[in-house]
Amino acid sequence: MLNIGCHLSISKGFEHIGKEAMSIGANTFQFFTRNPQGGKAKDVDINDVHKYNTFAAQNRFAKIVAHAPYTLNPCSDNPQTVEFAQMVFADDLQRMELVPHNYYNFHPGSHVGQGAEKGISMIIDLLNKILRQEQTTTVLLETMSGKGSEVGRSFEELAEIINGVKLKQKLGVCMDTCHVFAAGYDIVNNLDGVMTEFNQVIGLERLKAVHLNDSLMPFASHKDRHAKIGEGEIGEKALVRFVNHDAVKNLPIILETPNDLVGYADEIKLMKAKCL
Ligand code: FE
Ligand code: FE
Ligand code: ZN
Repeated sequence: MLNIGCHLSISKGFEHIGKEAMSIGANTFQFFTRNPQGGKAKDVDINDVHKYNTFAAQNRFAKIVAHAPYTLNPCSDNPQTVEFAQMVFADDLQRMELVPHNYYNFHPGSHVGQGAEKGISMIIDLLNKILRQEQTTTVLLETMSGKGSEVGRSFEELAEIINGVKLKQKLGVCMDTCHVFAAGYDIVNNLDGVMTEFNQVIGLERLKAVHLNDSLMPFASHKDRHAKIGEGEIGEKALVRFVNHDAVKNLPIILETPNDLVGYADEIKLMKAKCL
């Protein structure tokens, strides 16, 4: 069975988001741990979290994905931004233990002109500071399109980060179909080749989740603009093939397409119908 859901707002709590997900045919979802622009996290209502954990177990939810704020940048040239990233990351991971054994996805960062090597070493530093042996959360590095000075635009860059981290067993990768396509990985004409390359460079055992998006921008454009399924340059056929791939079909698949709830329900229905 396909594990599929979409990005939803957690502003009304965990139980609410779980029920909302189920109402659109999802058995997983993604949420921002706090305002995507950063800022303070809402206090967690323990009672709500307990209700969610029971609900998720009863309804056989797959692993869910928390998404770090976009402003989190471990490789900024501003020491205050780096310190903020560390604080947010550590705080989010601590709160994630209330919903144990799930995923925390983040954009590796932007090196803002310091160079990819410097950026990579700063991301490694952050991960070595905040990962804990006892945490149950797996931290996911998201594949990036390579806009601006983004780190994580190639499998090699992600592999370098993973290789520098001591607690590697706490790390995985979330592949965003829009981002990899825009980064120059041809998942339309050479899906097997891309997956083979991922396996050789990173290892497919690290692939833990997928962001399923079409891309408004062309192949290898290094631009990050999501489109609805079938309304972009990747196309419905290639996305269906992607989700049916052996390396993908059992992972949590999260839609981040520009949709309201009805639109998400339609895309979930479509993917479920085409992926057996
Ligand atoms: Fe993202
Ligand atoms: Fe994404
Ligand atoms: Zn994106």
